[in-house]
Amino acid sequence: MLDEKDLEKLRKAGRVAANAREKGMAMVKEGVKLFDVAEEVEGYIRSQGCKLAFPCNISVNEIAAHYTPSVNDKLTFEIGDVVKIDCGAHVDGFVGDTAGTVEVGTRRFTDLIDTAKEARNTVMEFIGEGIPVREIGVAVNGTIQKHGFQPIRNLSGHQIKPYCLHAGLSIPNFDDGNDTKLEQGMIIACEPFATNGEGLIVAGRPGNICRIIREGPIADPKLQDFFDYIKEEFSTFPFCARSCDYPNATVLMNKLVRHGILSSYALLVEKKKGCVSQFEHTVYISGKRAEVMTISDAGY
Ligand code: MN
Ligand code: MN
Repeated sequence: MLDEKDLEKLRKAGRVAANAREKGMAMVKEGVKLFDVAEEVEGYIRSQGCKLAFPCNISVNEIAAHYTPSVNDKLTFEIGDVVKIDCGAHVDGFVGDTAGTVEVGTRRFTDLIDTAKEARNTVMEFIGEGIPVREIGVAVNGTIQKHGFQPIRNLSGHQIKPYCLHAGLSIPNFDDGNDTKLEQGMIIACEPFATNGEGLIVAGRPGNICRIIREGPIADPKLQDFFDYIKEEFSTFPFCARSCDYPNATVLMNKLVRHGILSSYALLVEKKKGCVSQFEHTVYISGKRAEVMTISDAGY
């Protein structure tokens, strides 16, 4: 169990992440730069005294996850785009991780978007202590298939521990047969993905998000200084060049990737190029009914 002080840190991270998510989603309009939305979302998180748990992911259409704008990114939203905003804040390692989906200018994908939201909200009704994780998968899969779509089976929610975004349990989006029960004190991210494609993602081209996988050796003192900066600023969390307050971060990051110090995350793309929607909440398993952490000031 978390003590009251740590629980307050988690609550703050959750609320700030949720407000950032809503700000980001509200900005998604035709012609707006993805870069500007990411900067707004992350700027808000920092302005509230939180740190980024990962760069704001803005993944469009068949890209399910892991796109974040580069330093000079010129991409803009187009009519008909289905846009996932996935952001995370932390306070002393306690993470709020949350996502939502919006469509640009059309209503062609309302069903697909509402389905992922309904799946997420259905889980929120019963998630708590003693629930076997497969039951979450059963609920997600059932809700999504009822509407004629597929859950993405090889993407899942996850347990969160201090300074560890993906820790321990996987929270499936279908019945994976895992009878492990949720326990009091766990922090859990539930994130159903729905698609009109096959329901599987494959790794695409390398994205802009990295994490530290090895401490060294680093011979070049300038590179070592940059490494020390990212370790101090982002700790164990994923980050990107845009979030680095450090000159030539893109070039330095590429060097560290080549040295095997950093690993970059590939874009995750739906196998049949299906359109993908996603909603995510972080909850705290306080008892039979979990406390949902990523509720915005607007109440959702
Ligand atoms: Mn997320
Ligand atoms: Mn997550």
